[in-house]
Amino acid sequence: MTGVIESQENKDLRAAVAALGARHGRGFDRAALWSEAAKLGYLGVNLPEQYGGGGGGMAELSIVLEELGSAGCPLLMMVVSPAICGTVIARFGTDVQKRKWLPGLADGSLTMAFGITEPDAGSNSHRITTTARRDGDGGVLTGRKVFISGVDIADATLVVGRTEDARTGSLKPCLFIVPRDTPGFQRSRIDMELQAAEKQFELVLDDVRLPADSLVGDEDAGLLQLFAGLNPERIMTAAFAIGMGRYALARAVDYATTRQVWKLPIGGHQAIAHPLAQAHIELELARLMMQKAAALYDAGDDAGAGEAANMAKYAAAEACIRAVDQAVHTLGGNGLTREYGLASLITAARVARIAPVSREMILNYVSHQSLGLPKSY
Ligand SMILES: Cc1cc2nc3c(=O)[nH]c(=O)nc-3n(C[C@H](O)[C@H](O)[C@H](O)COP(=O)(O)OP(=O)(O)OC[C@H]3O[C@@H](n4cnc5c(N)ncnc54)[C@H](O)[C@@H]3O)c2cc1C
Repeated sequence: MTGVIESQENKDLRAAVAALGARHGRGFDRAALWSEAAKLGYLGVNLPEQYGGGGGGMAELSIVLEELGSAGCPLLMMVVSPAICGTVIARFGTDVQKRKWLPGLADGSLTMAFGITEPDAGSNSHRITTTARRDGDGGVLTGRKVFISGVDIADATLVVGRTEDARTGSLKPCLFIVPRDTPGFQRSRIDMELQAAEKQFELVLDDVRLPADSLVGDEDAGLLQLFAGLNPERIMTAAFAIGMGRYALARAVDYATTRQVWKLPIGGHQAIAHPLAQAHIELELARLMMQKAAALYDAGDDAGAGEAANMAKYAAAEACIRAVDQAVHTLGGNGLTREYGLASLITAARVARIAPVSREMILNYVSHQSLGLPKSY
């Protein structure tokens, strides 16, 4: 890759994170890796220097997650904590919120989860019903969320809810920081098929009394805040998927180079080699779109980044799914053993197709926003 696409500084960052990932590898201890990556300053590379971050952007943060993933040790909470929550607070939080949360999110000593998905709204986030009503100085939040990652290891969850507009009486989106041990904030683990260090939770918010400084920024800027967090989330999901795809592909290439059942290693048969070459091409293409999305986002072009981030997430998820599928197949029976650890990636790779926004919702967005076709959703 040329310096035009990635600066020397970012290539050095990539190499340094890859070395950290290689030391931890597939059997990694999540907490140990989190704390080492934090000490090295990798978890807050995108956050403002004033609050202890690296002063970079999504270009740098996505490099960190991609490289950890390609070493087999992705940190899922990077998608939510520094990328969504850190960005939203840095861009829209009050001074008090910035001082309270950003230094910890930047040095990894604090983690924040992100909760938007609701059981009855799903992909249609306009239908969310978690609502805050005013009560004295603060407010009271009631509702349900589902599939929220890492709530048990997060110090707080950034919850997307609604609040009543004082003038019109209509409900408008608002973001609230809810500390983990707030009374009424209940979580129960969802039994997922995923083998991952981070778990998913259903949340029941039963008259959760919100501390006075829990509403993020200005209550009229909720939608803007939400959109500010969604592009980083898509870019980071792309990084997650590309890293996983690269990990699987590298295992398959190793195996195809050494496994021999006829006259030459199985990688010498084009039926094995070509799909691996295709997977490599598709992962590289997805990364290029991710880099474009990150460059636009970091340059402050939120609208341009929106289309590119959606396309990058789509391309990365599809490339990852195909790379994992081909990797499993390349290993024959060993592809399905626990020892080689690839079969569990079949399930893990599917996450990127459905979350945080599904393949179909991206196709809806591109048909409508990019191609100007009638809106179907
Ligand atoms: C491992 C994992 C971690 C997650 N972590 C978080 C988290 O931390 N925070 C959080 O808020 N959420 C999280 N989610 C939730 C995730 O964002 C949702 O699962 C996703 O947005 C899809 O919503 P849904 O599951 O309700 O599917 P649904 O909206 O019910 O969709 C079901 C199917 O219908 C399709 N569909 C829906 N509408 C349309 C349409 N208009 N046109 C065409 N097809 C359509 C979808 O593409 C999908 O295939 C996580 C999910 C998973 C699996």
